[in-house]
Amino acid sequence: MPKECLICQRIAAIKQHENPYFVRELATGYVVLADSQYFEGYTLFLGKQHVTELHQLAPQTKIAFLEEMSLVAEACGQAFHADKMNIELLGNGDAHVHWHLFPRHAGDTAKAGPVWWTPLETMYGDDVAADPVRLARLKTTLNQALDAVLLKRAGELRAVHDLTLNNHARAGHTRPQATD
Ligand SMILES: [Zn+2]
Repeated sequence: MPKECLICQRIAAIKQHENPYFVRELATGYVVLADSQYFEGYTLFLGKQHVTELHQLAPQTKIAFLEEMSLVAEACGQAFHADKMNIELLGNGDAHVHWHLFPRHAGDTAKAGPVWWTPLETMYGDDVAADPVRLARLKTTLNQALDAVLLKRAGELRAVHDLTLNNHARAGHTRPQATD
């Protein structure tokens, strides 16, 4: 891990149980709340691997990372009653792949558009840094939504699995053929 990478440092802090923004570990990344909560519920999904571009991940890892990011975004939207989710992978400052997930609400910027139209001193001002009480509340809300979304997804995957087994049975196979 590159020592100068802020994201790698934050992941190291999660592993040491020293990252107050940590929400949950998934297979391909870590869900954390953003330091600034000007847009309440602003969440990050940090990739476990230090790569700078999505296409540098192995194909299966990339698909899993995208799927998990989408589930986190869905949970984030539900948790914070978003009218619209904004999802961005930028990495101009910190190049390690990480998603910015913004729950957006009508009228939350002066003119409808990206969050970055908000002056940075407003968006990252000291007054919008989450205090421990607010952070705990946001984490609980997001964790509950993650539980619901992940459970629903697991059910969908089980249904697909069962359907596949049934189709194999109908086609005369006694069990799924691994080489199909
Ligand atoms: Zn890194």
